[in-house]
Amino acid sequence: MTFFNHPGDFDVIVVGGGHAGAEAALAASGLGMKTLLMTQDLDTIAQMSCNPSIGGIGKGQIVREIDALGGHMAKNTDRAVLSVHMLNASRGPAVHSPRAQCDKKLYQSGMKRRLEARNDLSLIQDEAVRVWTEGSRLKGVVTLRNTRYRSKCVILTTGTFLKGVIHIGLLSFKGGRYNHPPSDGLSPSLEELGFKLGRLKTGTPMRLNGRTIDFSKCAEQRPDDPPAPFSHFTARLENKLLPCWITHTGAGTAAIIRANLDKSPLYCGRIKSTGPRYCPSIEDKIVKFPHHPTHHLFLEPEGFETGEYYVNGLSTSLPEEVQTAICASVAGLEKAEIVRAAYAIEYDYSLPQQLDYSLQAKTVPGLFMAGQINGTTGYEEAAAQGLMAGINAALKIKKLQPLILRRDEAYIGVMIDDLISKGIDEPYRIFTSRAEYRLLLRQDNADLRLMDYGLKLGLVPEKFKLPFEIYKDAVEKLKAKKQSGSEAARQPDGETVQPSSRPAAQPSSRPAAQPSSRPAGDMAPWTREKAELSATTEMDYAAYIARNNKEAEKLKRFEHLTIPAGLDFAVLKGLLLESRQKLIRVRPGTLAQASRIPGVTPADIQLLWVHIERMQKSKVESK
Ligand SMILES: Cc1cc2nc3c(=O)[nH]c(=O)nc-3n(C[C@H](O)[C@H](O)[C@H](O)COP(=O)(O)OP(=O)(O)OC[C@H]3O[C@@H](n4cnc5c(N)ncnc54)[C@H](O)[C@@H]3O)c2cc1C
Repeated sequence: MTFFNHPGDFDVIVVGGGHAGAEAALAASGLGMKTLLMTQDLDTIAQMSCNPSIGGIGKGQIVREIDALGGHMAKNTDRAVLSVHMLNASRGPAVHSPRAQCDKKLYQSGMKRRLEARNDLSLIQDEAVRVWTEGSRLKGVVTLRNTRYRSKCVILTTGTFLKGVIHIGLLSFKGGRYNHPPSDGLSPSLEELGFKLGRLKTGTPMRLNGRTIDFSKCAEQRPDDPPAPFSHFTARLENKLLPCWITHTGAGTAAIIRANLDKSPLYCGRIKSTGPRYCPSIEDKIVKFPHHPTHHLFLEPEGFETGEYYVNGLSTSLPEEVQTAICASVAGLEKAEIVRAAYAIEYDYSLPQQLDYSLQAKTVPGLFMAGQINGTTGYEEAAAQGLMAGINAALKIKKLQPLILRRDEAYIGVMIDDLISKGIDEPYRIFTSRAEYRLLLRQDNADLRLMDYGLKLGLVPEKFKLPFEIYKDAVEKLKAKKQSGSEAARQPDGETVQPSSRPAAQPSSRPAAQPSSRPAGDMAPWTREKAELSATTEMDYAAYIARNNKEAEKLKRFEHLTIPAGLDFAVLKGLLLESRQKLIRVRPGTLAQASRIPGVTPADIQLLWVHIERMQKSKVESK
């Protein structure tokens, strides 16, 4: 075969312009790498394949973390926002989770503009069909047009496109997303390189014409007032916000679905792969929760310039005529017209345990993977991995240590650790409950936890360094003031008059974080109110945070205990068979990672610990 060798010699090629790809390309180029973003269709950059919203429980925290590290998702959301809600605002701060509905088109064009504006970042509309290697050395990628692009690192972010198959009722056809071709070439290429692939499934609801919805039968859900921006760097939201609407499935809905289960590809055996348990289709909800008489549905506008509504909660792969009957059974949707049918999609993913903690493939140095290709689901999870892969590809090229976030410092750390050490058996999405130290990982302190990394890397502009220092200082001073206030309030017998701690999930009377519209002097874009909120939260939950910190410290010791490359789990005496097999399969880098592999017992961790210490001691003695 004759190839055209593209003259550009890139440091990093990012394959796929979805949420992972956009962040990866911006991060790599932001760190000075000559980067190419290759995607099948430039008009679908950062397309929201499913719901028109960013954030949610656990996901909102991730977006704030991306922002603190210098990523773009939060800033782009603030520009495209059309409604805002702080979820769990009446509960403890550990679970406060921002969520924003977006204008889909504005979100896409905003991200495309960010990519186009970046020096050292080239864009090309083409499809990668092969990872180009010579021996075990990565050379770049080969495309559908037989062009070879050379690079030091490649980041694959192909989303739901690998061998994608779409299902609507008993009809199925190839597609990476409705009306978009699948990516069929890369799966065999990855398999040739020895990667194990699996198959997953997800689904999306129908979109309706708003003109045909009877909103008078729905409950209005107004945006938060005042609305909080997502990004730490946005002073205020400029868009005029819109309401969302709530309705519910009717008595007839369940009957229609039950009567048509034989036409559901999920229930008649056409779809064999696993879908996201926490984002079930309506047929799953009816079958698995028969005691629930109704299910809430949220009608979310898809944009300022369109009348389309997304029906959150009505994901299905039933045939179109059944979808129409389902809508007719719902209050307010009796006459609603479906403009885009709901569907399910099956696609290949690559088992994430084949990567190391920097998201680089263990067997092909320089090849990184991020996003849905690693078995996750969700824009936020994808963007966070893209950011980390982009950063780590750049650090590798610069011959610097990778950035690996710990479980006690970021949800991103929790997610990547879960993926690499445990793998997945269903599409992985983040939840606050996945984190052991969720009081440490709040949405209000993402900047305090992570922005120093962003500044040090240079992804957060230098001009924010001083304001951030002033802000941190203000938080510390406020904490000290509150501390001395509560000391003064102690009774003579040492008992505190007002206990300052309550469990993380207990209701708080304090309102959710809201920004001030006035910047506070040198601290801007941070505000005095935000400093107050962080300091008060830290002091209110001081006892719980101290306990979390203590546990995290213990874990940190294990985190630093590297498992020597020469330790052969196959011959280590005393390990249980299950632990041995799993340790061999995952090959954890540290004792902390080993301790998180499901099925590896605490007794085996103790045994490993003793063994590692013995190995270290004998190494020192033999010097
Ligand atoms: C039908 C459907 C329903 C979904 N439902 C939900 C849901 O309910 N909840 C949820 O959280 N998430 C849902 N998602 C998933 C969500 O869309 C993804 O998690 C998210 O978009 C993943 O981001 P990504 O960057 O990994 O991939 P994507 O956003 O899928 O982007 C991948 C990009 O790579 C490009 N590409 C692929 N292969 C190649 C190639 N070989 N060469 C060049 N370019 C390539 C594609 O054109 C695309 O632009 C759904 C997705 C779909 C399709």
